Amino acid sequence: MSTEVRSNTEVRSDTAVLSGKPLAALIQQRAQEESTLLEDEGLRPVLAVVVATDDQSTHWYVRSIERAAGRAGIGCRIIDLGHDATEQVLASVLADLSAEPTVHGIILQTPLPATVRADRLVGLIAPEKDIDGANPLSFGRLAVGQPAFAPATARAVVELLDHFQIPVAGRNVAVVGRSAVVGKPLSLLLLARDATVTVCHSKSGPLERYTQPADVVVVAAGRTGLLKGSHISPEAVVIDVGTNVLADGSLVGDVDEASVTGVAAGLSPVPGGVGSVTTALLLLHTVEAARQQSRTTLLAASTSRI
Ligand code: NAP
Repeated sequence: MSTEVRSNTEVRSDTAVLSGKPLAALIQQRAQEESTLLEDEGLRPVLAVVVATDDQSTHWYVRSIERAAGRAGIGCRIIDLGHDATEQVLASVLADLSAEPTVHGIILQTPLPATVRADRLVGLIAPEKDIDGANPLSFGRLAVGQPAFAPATARAVVELLDHFQIPVAGRNVAVVGRSAVVGKPLSLLLLARDATVTVCHSKSGPLERYTQPADVVVVAAGRTGLLKGSHISPEAVVIDVGTNVLADGSLVGDVDEASVTGVAAGLSPVPGGVGSVTTALLLLHTVEAARQQSRTTLLAASTSRI
């Protein structure tokens, strides 16, 4: 495995850099091609992003989605409700977007105001428009192997492993983090690929107990420098999902790159790893959702004529 990984990638001190950029470009291109086909059929895919925060890095991220959508020919509506939006207002906007036929994908962007219950709100996103897998119905469907949109970051990790031909079937994968948006759905996707998955969290105790035997380690904890070279075995592949903004404004992941480099066979870094793949997948999910919704509408129309 490591030989294959290394033959396709930049190598830093014997650890291959598993960049997300080429894969993100391929996915973005697929989204663009599919949106052109839909436009030819008279359907413009549209993504709605609901925002309720003053956090500038969130606004920067949402604008980056808007720009990427524009490049792929996908409409993007940003609905900025302000940092003091109430749960009632958010609920009403999500219900309206779910019922709006010209909107095909919906993202409820975090963070949300402290006063609102995100778990209640995500249930209002119509499952067919839930392109970031936030509705518990999507999670349930994933869990039992039914079609559903997975959270884009969880899918990005699996797509990245596929892209670099890193097998997981029959291998040990340690996932550090058990959130509903990354760790848990990722563990379901990996199980579906026949990996043996160990999910770690803040109460797991010494990390190396779980990460040392792993062939692949995915870290999604939001803790700078959490995974060190001493936590992994040589030849392991490490995927960093964490995004942490340092005091100087720079972005780093959860992996201590200096100590992991030279030990791991491959490392997907932050920045430059899963982040751009996640954004591209949000667009691909939007065109897939638009395609499915147009088929459902056509089917309903033909059934009503019978
Ligand atoms: P989260 O909801 O805060 O969950 C963090 C998880 O990490 C929790 O399960 C927590 O355990 C676990 N954890 C915390 N400290 C730990 C430790 N010392 N040892 C082991 N486990 C530990 O965060 P999230 O939403 O899953 O996001 C995780 C990271 O990924 C964040 O940095 C986030 O910014 C990043 N992220 C990146 C993308 C992207 O596209 N690149 C997308 C989403 C998220 P407990 O459950 O016990 O608290």
